[in-house]
Amino acid sequence: MSGLLDVLVLGGGQSGLATGYFLRRTGRPFAILDGEAGPGGAWRHGWDSLHLFSPAEWSSLPGWQMPQRPGQTYPDRDTVLDYMADYEGRYDLPVERPVGIVSVARDESGFVVETDKGRRRARALVAATGTWRKPFVPDYAGRDDFQGVQLHSAAYRNADPFVGQRVLVVGGGNSGAQILAEVSQVADATWVTPQPPMFLPDDVDGRVLFQRATERWRAAQEGRSVGLPVGGFGDVVMVPPVQEARARGVLQTVRPFDRFTPRGVVWSDGAETAVDAVIWCTGFRPATDILKPLGVVDDSGRVSTDGTRATALPGLWLVGYGEWTGSASATLVGVMRTARATAKEIDAFLARDSEQGNPPP
Ligand code: FAD
Repeated sequence: MSGLLDVLVLGGGQSGLATGYFLRRTGRPFAILDGEAGPGGAWRHGWDSLHLFSPAEWSSLPGWQMPQRPGQTYPDRDTVLDYMADYEGRYDLPVERPVGIVSVARDESGFVVETDKGRRRARALVAATGTWRKPFVPDYAGRDDFQGVQLHSAAYRNADPFVGQRVLVVGGGNSGAQILAEVSQVADATWVTPQPPMFLPDDVDGRVLFQRATERWRAAQEGRSVGLPVGGFGDVVMVPPVQEARARGVLQTVRPFDRFTPRGVVWSDGAETAVDAVIWCTGFRPATDILKPLGVVDDSGRVSTDGTRATALPGLWLVGYGEWTGSASATLVGVMRTARATAKEIDAFLARDSEQGNPPP
């Protein structure tokens, strides 16, 4: 059938590019569809001061190390964006953008992808749509009545709109810590977290977390158990701005409030505080709505997988969403292992499919 590709990769962020790097080596025809105006995926929407939590050599996609900028231990957002743009060119990855993907369905030859640029077909599909398009905000009583500003970290750029304001930063992960550190320089900021955050020691950055994740993975493969210190990618990495906030004494948290009022919040002891703005650093969900017509997406946006392969639907893989699609797979360096395995599995799947009488176009 004309226009039938072997593989379509949905999403051209780091996960889509890493998968494309390995698919290229299989020699199979494929394309990467991406909705952004330019390269970089979610990094295009990162806040102005965002820095990686690991050095360049621990923040690289397969095949080519991110160039280190002089005087910069932890690469900034624009370094990552330049790297991803150069990466696409270097490996001549067939990224098409901007292409808005609307929905995915099955047909007799594989998958039909409806986009705002027309219908596309492929025998196998890789979902690499990330989470950035699906910010999560918890349900607090009265939230819709609150008349102040509410902003998710997905839309946060810098602290300028909050100068002189009373701000709540909600959420105890790295986004919460870094945004609290920045906003507290210009605003009266309170950090609200359900539990006290886990702060990693100052000398533990992303590089150490990757080493531990790799050691755990190896041990699991070999049936060993390892007594490594606890510490995961959700714990707070003490990057320099967060250390500086600690030195200022603002790295304190309080437990959540009970409900919103039109002008603020009410705490569990009944006290009321006026609030101008709430910044939700409460995470993301998989951006998998487009897969819903396939009938394999659960209420949390996940798909049941073995590695990255969808267990209930032959021909579908999911790359880069988090631990459920592979240890450390939602990171630049960590996605490599699962991207490589995915391309290999797809190649074998398509070869088997051809043997069974479904020849490639
Ligand atoms: P994305 O980058 O989100 O790419 C998915 C692409 O798919 C996007 O371009 C999107 O537009 C496109 N897409 C989605 N849906 C559609 C659709 N319907 N139609 C068309 N296109 C669509 N990782 C590290 O390695 N090191 C770090 O230091 C680090 N720091 C982080 C700090 C913060 C605050 C956060 C939030 C994340 C951090 N990460 C870090 C993790 C990492 O940045 C993300 O997990 C990563 O961007 C995920 O890449 P991805 O390719 O899976 O998804």
